Amino acid sequence: MKTFRSSEALKGALVSFRKKNKKIGFVPTMGSLHEGHLSLVRLAREENKAVVVSIFVNPLQFGPKEDFWRYPRDLARDSRLLKKEKADFIFAPLPKEFYPEDFETSVSLSRLSRPLCGAARPTHFTGVATGVLKLLNIVMPRTLYLGQKDYQQFRVIEQMVRDMDFPCRVKAAPIVREADGLAMSSRNIFLSRTERREAPFIRRSLEEVERLVKSGFHDASKLKQRALEILKLAPHARLDYLEIVDAQSLESVIRLKPGSKILAAIAVFFGKTRLIDNVLIRG
Ligand code: AMP
Repeated sequence: MKTFRSSEALKGALVSFRKKNKKIGFVPTMGSLHEGHLSLVRLAREENKAVVVSIFVNPLQFGPKEDFWRYPRDLARDSRLLKKEKADFIFAPLPKEFYPEDFETSVSLSRLSRPLCGAARPTHFTGVATGVLKLLNIVMPRTLYLGQKDYQQFRVIEQMVRDMDFPCRVKAAPIVREADGLAMSSRNIFLSRTERREAPFIRRSLEEVERLVKSGFHDASKLKQRALEILKLAPHARLDYLEIVDAQSLESVIRLKPGSKILAAIAVFFGKTRLIDNVLIRG
């Protein structure tokens, strides 16, 4: 396994794979890896000749008051984990080199970046799309691997790839969870003991939505109301949003249509720590 800081060096290392038309799989991450990230690396390993993992805390996707500076970073630990998973290349660029002073292009999506996380984080998905498109142009993978955990991010990138004719497939892998149901996240380490004990109610509130839909409830506002009752069992949780949206367009749904694919998505603050989760449901 080799680690690169410079995009030119990484491109050089990938030339021979590309010339021989060997499949390159790419997993973009912000590091501080956990089983969620590693599940993507394993999938990429099964399906490709070369596996590239980027570790880059992308400054463009953080708002001025967000946790860019306190976001956990540990490249040595991440490298050990990736070596075990037999990744081939780590790309860990330095922000100043990735975005030189005269960098001025941005990629934004007019619709998909607005609802859900985009409402409280208006510049977030422009930062994500800009960073990921740049990474894609460097790595030129056959397949890009993303987690369903950041479902809106997956839709934004899937749409961008399609809109911009980028020649790669985009795959979403299931959410990996702790034993008590909490979605794994690099930010879980910021939770106090009490918050950690309450955090599984995020998932339980979504399970309630799923259960109610399966038993015939179709009114989105009722579903949300019931989910919020479950979330009340976590008194330290502060709701950012709980939405029921169409899984493709991310537009709000008022009444679920039979057979339609919907997403129940939630974002919750515990203190300054913001956690997200979601579930895909057939209406
Ligand atoms: P991040 O490092 O948070 O930017 O995440 C990098 C990739 O890992 C994204 O595609 C995430 O959706 C994915 N990911 C993060 N947490 C999980 C999880 N618990 N299960 C599955 N994928 C995840």
